[in-house]
Amino acid sequence: MRGYLHRGDFENICCRCGICCGSEDGDPCENLKQDKDGKYYCPIYENRFGKHKTVNGTIISCVPIEEALRNNPELRKKCAYAKFSIKKHETEAKK
Ligand code: SF4
Ligand code: SF4
Repeated sequence: MRGYLHRGDFENICCRCGICCGSEDGDPCENLKQDKDGKYYCPIYENRFGKHKTVNGTIISCVPIEEALRNNPELRKKCAYAKFSIKKHETEAKK
């Protein structure tokens, strides 16, 4: 399962490390690309959800980042957006 790279309001939070798309695990999503600054992006962002292949041919499912974070404790430790997301949910839970 993979997450997705944010745009818009989340741009300042997501560091575009690409970890949610497999940039660090040796077999990333085949759609994952890097710009000239080394930042990762998804060229099919608007239609990203659903089944895709990794560069080695494994079938993966691209899901909203909140879902990826819920299901992947390791991703929660590394994703810059996770810290924001968890904090936001804690704040909302207190309301
Ligand atoms: S399609 Fe692939 S590169 Fe694009 S957001 Fe989903 S997992 Fe990442
Ligand atoms: S792991 Fe988190 S911070 Fe890194 S690209 Fe994915 S959403 Fe952005």
